[in-house]
Amino acid sequence: MNKTRVAVVGAGVSGCSCALALIEQYPNVDVTVFADRPFTDTTSFGPPGIFALDYQQYNVGASSGVQLISGYILSDNEQLLKEEEENMSDIVFNFQWLKPKDFQLFANPPKYGIFFTTFTTEGRTYVPWLTSRLKERKVKFEQRTIAKLNELGNTFDFVINCAGVDAGKIAGDDDTVVPARGVLLEVAAPGQKHFISLDIGTALIPTTKSFFIGTLKQMGRSDRVVTQQDRDEIWERNLKIMPTLKNAKVMSEWAGLRPVRKEGIRLEMKDNIAANGKRYYIVHNYGHGSNGFTLSWGCAKEVVELIGGQLHHPNSKI
Ligand SMILES: Cc1cc2nc3c(=O)[nH]c(=O)nc-3n(C[C@H](O)[C@H](O)[C@H](O)COP(=O)(O)OP(=O)(O)OC[C@H]3O[C@@H](n4cnc5c(N)ncnc54)[C@H](O)[C@@H]3O)c2cc1C
Repeated sequence: MNKTRVAVVGAGVSGCSCALALIEQYPNVDVTVFADRPFTDTTSFGPPGIFALDYQQYNVGASSGVQLISGYILSDNEQLLKEEEENMSDIVFNFQWLKPKDFQLFANPPKYGIFFTTFTTEGRTYVPWLTSRLKERKVKFEQRTIAKLNELGNTFDFVINCAGVDAGKIAGDDDTVVPARGVLLEVAAPGQKHFISLDIGTALIPTTKSFFIGTLKQMGRSDRVVTQQDRDEIWERNLKIMPTLKNAKVMSEWAGLRPVRKEGIRLEMKDNIAANGKRYYIVHNYGHGSNGFTLSWGCAKEVVELIGGQLHHPNSKI
C-alpha cells in the first residue's frame, strides 16, 4: 500500500512542530518540509520565546534551549494585568500578585505587578533541535518557494500551511496576514535570572546563555534592518526598569515579523481536488502573531487530529 504523503510548507516553529507531532503519531507517514529561505531569515529564529510546554518529555534543558524561569509583569494599568491573570493564571505556575514589599526590587516601580513561572526557549536553539528530531525520523527538507499550495496537490495527500507572514498569500483564497515588526537586542547580563516585562511591550528575557531586551510592535512594517531609532527606544524603556543594564554589552540584534491575522489563528482543514484530479487536503496553521512559540505544540496536535480524522474516516480516499 502507498504511504500517505504530507507536505509541510514552512520550517519555522509551527511547521517543525507539526511535522514532529505528525511523525510521532503516524511513524509511517512520508513527510517533506518546504522552506523558501534559510532558517536564520525566519521569524522563528529570533525570539526568546516564552511559552508553556504540554509534555514533560520536551523539557530537556540546554539541548533544546528550553528552561523554566520566573519573572514579573509590571504596569500602572491594573486592568491589563487582570487580563493577563484571566488569560494564563491556570496555565503558568506560581501565579501571584505582587505585595507592597516586592516593589522594592525595582527602580521606578509601577503601581501593580504579577509574578509567575513558565518556560522559555531560544528559537535559534529550539527549532534546530526540532529539526534534528525530524531528520532522525527521516523527514525530508527541501528549499523551494511554493507560489500556491495547490501546486503540491498532485503529489501530496495533505499540505500543511505554516508559512508565517506569507501563509495568506500562498493559501490561494485571498486571506491576509499582516507583519508586525519587532526588534530584540541580545545582551550579556550574567546573574540576571528573571524575566521582567513592563506593560507587555517592554521586556527583558533571560535565555540559557544571554539576555534579550525588547521590543517594538510596528504593524504593517516589514523591513528587517535594525535602526538607531529602534535601539534608542528599546534602551530608553528598558533602562527605566533595569538601570543596571546600562553598560551591558550588546552581543547581537535582530528584527523579525510577527504573523498577525485580524481574525486570529487560522487552524482548519479544506478538501481540494488537484489539477490531476486527485483528492487532497490543505490544513492551515498560521497567524499566531506574538505567541507562535507558546501555541506551537498545541496547534501541531490539533493539526494531527484533523489529519487523523481523515485517515481514519470510513470513506477516506487517502
Ligand atoms: C520580536 C518578537 C518577539 C517574539 N516573542 C515571542 C515570545 O516570547 N513567545 C512566543 O510564543 N512568540 C513570540 N514571538 C512570535 C513568534 O516568533 C512567531 O509567532 C513564530 O515564530 C511564527 O512561527 P511560524 O513557524 O508560524 O512562522 P516563521 O517562523 O515565519 O516560518 C515561516 C516558514 O515558512 C516558509 N515560507 C514562507 N513562505 C514560503 C513559500 N512561499 N514557500 C516555501 N516556504 C515558505 C519560511 O521559509 C519559513 O520556514 C515573537 C516574535 C517577534 C518578532
